[in-house]
Amino acid sequence: MRKRKSKAKPPPKKHMDKLDVSERLLALVKEVFENMGKRKSMAKPLLKKPMNKLDTIFSCPFRNHGTSVECRIDMKNLIGEAICGICQESYNTTVNALTEPINIYSEWIGECEQVNTVDDEA
Ligand SMILES: [Zn+2]
Repeated sequence: MRKRKSKAKPPPKKHMDKLDVSERLLALVKEVFENMGKRKSMAKPLLKKPMNKLDTIFSCPFRNHGTSVECRIDMKNLIGEAICGICQESYNTTVNALTEPINIYSEWIGECEQVNTVDDEA
């Protein structure tokens, strides 16, 4: 079973390698922990919040300037507000506990369609 013995030298570093590996592992673990501490404030919220953020940003119903409408919900006064940051158009509506930004936005769109009666639909 040990036929290679004659040709190759027995690797003298074997023990060293083992040490090396566990040392590297330790270093890696340390690094990971350090990074966890460092990144905690940066990466974690960023990973979780985009979904929420996306849910409150919509495209303007009046012009094609992309996602410029922000929906806010005022739970104290039960008012939902959608505002386009570019053309300053805004829409207010009453909300309840189940209202989501998308509801406000789609309500606004519905209102716009009623007013404009599908003006120019490119
Ligand atoms: Zn706009």
